[in-house]
Amino acid sequence: MPVIQNPPFYADLEDVGIQIPLDFRRMTGITFIDTILISDAAPVPPTEWLPLLFHELVHVLQYEELGLNRFVQLYVNGWAEGGFRYEDIPLERDAYELDAKFRSAPAQPFDTLATVRNQLSGYGIA
Ligand SMILES: [Zn+2]
Repeated sequence: MPVIQNPPFYADLEDVGIQIPLDFRRMTGITFIDTILISDAAPVPPTEWLPLLFHELVHVLQYEELGLNRFVQLYVNGWAEGGFRYEDIPLERDAYELDAKFRSAPAQPFDTLATVRNQLSGYGIA
């Protein structure tokens, strides 16, 4: 898609002078439950396509394991607790850890679901 749009309620935030929390228009990719959006506005080099897709697929597994409500709760709480730094969101750290493993040896299979389940068990919800 050309660009990932911000949600409509952002206009209301801006109307009352609240800074938008996260600019989706600058994102490369985002996953909603089982749908991965990749933006044309922030293109990745061809070599980054598979790792990006792998990273987003880890989020699909996280959604499947947690369910939508729990995923959003963990994601947003983790974001707030880390001072709104994207890279400190625990579910992102988990996904980056796995995409680093994929990058290091793309042809080497490993049990991604088992690893995701193991990571999530650390949140006290398994
Ligand atoms: Zn991510």
